[in-house]
Amino acid sequence: MPPCVSPASPCIDTLIVGGGLAGTLLAFELARAGQRVRIVDSGVETASSHAAGGLMNPLTGPRLSPLPDLMDRCAAARAHYDRLSQQLGHPLVSALPIVRICRDARERERAIELAHPCRGAWTDSPVASGFTAPFGAFRIDHGWRLDLNALCSAAGRRGNAGVQVDAGAFDWRRVSAQPAPPRWCGQRVGAVVSCEGVAALGNPFWQGLPLQPDGGESLILRMDLDLHEAVSAGVTLVPLGLRRYWLGATHQPGQFSSRTTVAGRTALLRKLATQLAAPSDIEVIGHRAGTRVAAPDREPLLGRHPRWPWLWIFNGLGSRGILRAPEAAEQLAARMTHGAPLANPMDVARYAIRPGAP
Ligand SMILES: Cc1cc2nc3c(=O)[nH]c(=O)nc-3n(C[C@H](O)[C@H](O)[C@H](O)COP(=O)(O)OP(=O)(O)OC[C@H]3O[C@@H](n4cnc5c(N)ncnc54)[C@H](O)[C@@H]3O)c2cc1C
Repeated sequence: MPPCVSPASPCIDTLIVGGGLAGTLLAFELARAGQRVRIVDSGVETASSHAAGGLMNPLTGPRLSPLPDLMDRCAAARAHYDRLSQQLGHPLVSALPIVRICRDARERERAIELAHPCRGAWTDSPVASGFTAPFGAFRIDHGWRLDLNALCSAAGRRGNAGVQVDAGAFDWRRVSAQPAPPRWCGQRVGAVVSCEGVAALGNPFWQGLPLQPDGGESLILRMDLDLHEAVSAGVTLVPLGLRRYWLGATHQPGQFSSRTTVAGRTALLRKLATQLAAPSDIEVIGHRAGTRVAAPDREPLLGRHPRWPWLWIFNGLGSRGILRAPEAAEQLAARMTHGAPLANPMDVARYAIRPGAP
């Protein structure tokens, strides 16, 4: 990082609060544009990015209704991660076919009628070894998995262009509402971006944003199955290699998951058991909880604070963060570095901040 030259210029161009998926992608994007970037992350166990399976499943939900421009969005997100993989010298993405098992007759009907390039071959026989599929199943093409842990821990590693990471919690209550940005570790800062996930709900500067929580839990299992595809049937089993699997996720709309629960673990294992043809030896080797946050229109939330020009936000990635985050990070970085306009549906300006917030 070049030294701070003039007494008036910032030593840190952008301080990013939160080093999950949003903060990490934004940091790399700003650094690519030549900024000196610092991330501060409190390392909370319940960050959404730690609980996530990293799966980019193009066809989710019981309705099987694809997002508009889905194929273009998938390709653009994939290209973003592939570019980062090259930059970091570490493959972050691997192709992962997904087998979707229909849960009931209605879902089967919808799936049979669905005409979409992601809707792969149909099968009435058991698809993945060890699973039952009484209502049939089909392959979902164009799925992939992002190694989220590798991505988030890559920021700050020596040589990773211009991004530095500090462990610690940024205390917003100590930031006085003022036209100039706060200092960080005694250094002048140009801009501060809140990439705090669910913690943004407690951020005094952003009170009133309609961020809706959806608590969730996931498990890491060791199982005697040899799957090379993800299997989705109400819960999703994602192979991690060496007979380890990610199993997720529970959804608790309107609620926070601030810790793992016996109820969450039981619900996940019970759902899995109903899909397995025969009881299998399952060892739970990990258990995570996290809270997704989304705006009511399910679009990411990004942009500048209406009152404090040094303050920005990047949040609202919801349950499709892996697909939505790259485009959002690119847009926000372009806005911050050369004033490019944000796409309307993502601009935080569509929601009002509560009067009285700093
Ligand atoms: C169980 C579960 C499974 C999921 N599975 C998938 C999936 O398979 N595919 C998919 O696309 N999406 C999935 N998601 C959603 C995905 O995880 C999110 O969209 C995405 O990770 C959100 O990233 P984020 O950076 O906005 O938030 P987070 O990952 O929550 O990161 C916020 C970070 O900010 C830090 N922080 C907060 N406040 C402060 C502070 N004051 N000072 C310093 N640091 C602070 C926290 O420590 C944390 O690291 C899943 C979510 C859950 C809960």
